Amino acid sequence: MDLADEPPSGPDFTDTRIAFQSKSDKELKETYRLFRLMNNGYIVDVGSHLAKVAMRLNLPFVENALKKTIFKQFCGGINLMDCQEVIDHLYSFNTLAILDYGAEAKSEEEDLDFAAEELIQAVDFAASNNSVPVVSSKLTALADNDILIKKQEGIAFTGSEEAQYERFLERIESVCNRARKLGVGVFIDAEESWIQITVDEVVWELMKRHNRDKITVYNTYQLYRHDKLEQIKSDFEKARKNGFMLGAKLVRGAYMERERDRAKELGYPSPIQPDKVATDRDYDEAIKFCLERYEDIAICNATHNLESVQLMVDEIIKRKLPRDHAHLNFCQLQGMSDYITFNLSQSGFNTAKYVVYGPVREVVEYLIRRAEENTAVIGEMSRELSLITSELKRRGLQD
Ligand SMILES: Cc1cc2nc3c(=O)[nH]c(=O)nc-3n(C[C@H](O)[C@H](O)[C@H](O)COP(=O)(O)OP(=O)(O)OC[C@H]3O[C@@H](n4cnc5c(N)ncnc54)[C@H](O)[C@@H]3O)c2cc1C
Repeated sequence: MDLADEPPSGPDFTDTRIAFQSKSDKELKETYRLFRLMNNGYIVDVGSHLAKVAMRLNLPFVENALKKTIFKQFCGGINLMDCQEVIDHLYSFNTLAILDYGAEAKSEEEDLDFAAEELIQAVDFAASNNSVPVVSSKLTALADNDILIKKQEGIAFTGSEEAQYERFLERIESVCNRARKLGVGVFIDAEESWIQITVDEVVWELMKRHNRDKITVYNTYQLYRHDKLEQIKSDFEKARKNGFMLGAKLVRGAYMERERDRAKELGYPSPIQPDKVATDRDYDEAIKFCLERYEDIAICNATHNLESVQLMVDEIIKRKLPRDHAHLNFCQLQGMSDYITFNLSQSGFNTAKYVVYGPVREVVEYLIRRAEENTAVIGEMSRELSLITSELKRRGLQD
């Protein structure tokens, strides 16, 4: 066979040299110590509790300790300028950054205005950085949660609530409008099902306005919901009929327990798939559906699941799609699954890290979630820890 006929090879995800090439020996050892601590469920439980209390009591030494350890691992910085070093570092390894202001949901109008202003600054910052194609946004950072629930339940707004809702729509519209003009994408996060219909409706209108010539706005589809594969398919058809393109960020979904508990408590059928196999099956189907139509759908495969990443890699290679096409994207969270990110980017696939930023006290809940995700599963080492251990051994830094 002629060499030119051979399919180009995909990444080797077992290559820990590439996975951790961005870390010096010292950084790798620090990361090892942190993941070893997080591997212990008891320490994570106690530490999470203490971190919350310390934030409430305004204890600066705890804030400092968090900043030098877990914050450094999972966040880009306390503000945009502070993130520049992380962004440049990622870019030197061919990896893009998606900016995500990590503040938890608020309800006061001035906090919501502040969050919108922060997002607009992130859009401007992204526009001036070749390596930041997208900013991420949670609509719960721009609207009071209760208003979103009321809207979804069809409960009549009072006059002031009506004004609050209008103000929320203006906030997200001004972010997307500016993003489109400056050529920056906007990912909108998926939320719990009791506000997701409202989110979907808002994002739909944004896509209609801003995805005509180019895809600016992306909705997020949670495939742990049994209705979302069908929704991607019908959204695609409806978008085509309406003359705009779909931006689809695919995730499995983060709120499974909460969803199941609430459904049980209120006695309605759970929107969640019966089991993980069903979630994985729909996730794979969604990837294939989007890839078949990649010229009209931009996909972001936002996962730490290696099989889902491998599937998209294999499909791109099999279908001979251009791996650097703007509509074909992978994304992981900063500080996690470096073996996926850096092996993908080394092989020429569009890969980005979600770079969460914000003051430590604002992102502390986010940090706790990351720590909880990295604890051991029934006494075993977390995957990250076992890969870091392999790399330490490969570098001769551990026996
Ligand atoms: C870049 C990025 C952006 C993200 N943005 C969002 C977002 O906007 N909204 C959001 O909700 N989440 C978001 N997430 C989180 C995501 O939804 C997942 O919770 C997380 O990534 C773990 O799933 P996984 O695909 O990486 O891998 P896996 O570890 O293979 O999957 C774990 C997931 O599978 C599902 N699952 C597990 N057990 C079962 C079961 N018994 N039955 C049915 N399903 C099951 C759950 O969704 C669980 O989180 C994001 C993740 C990343 C990496």
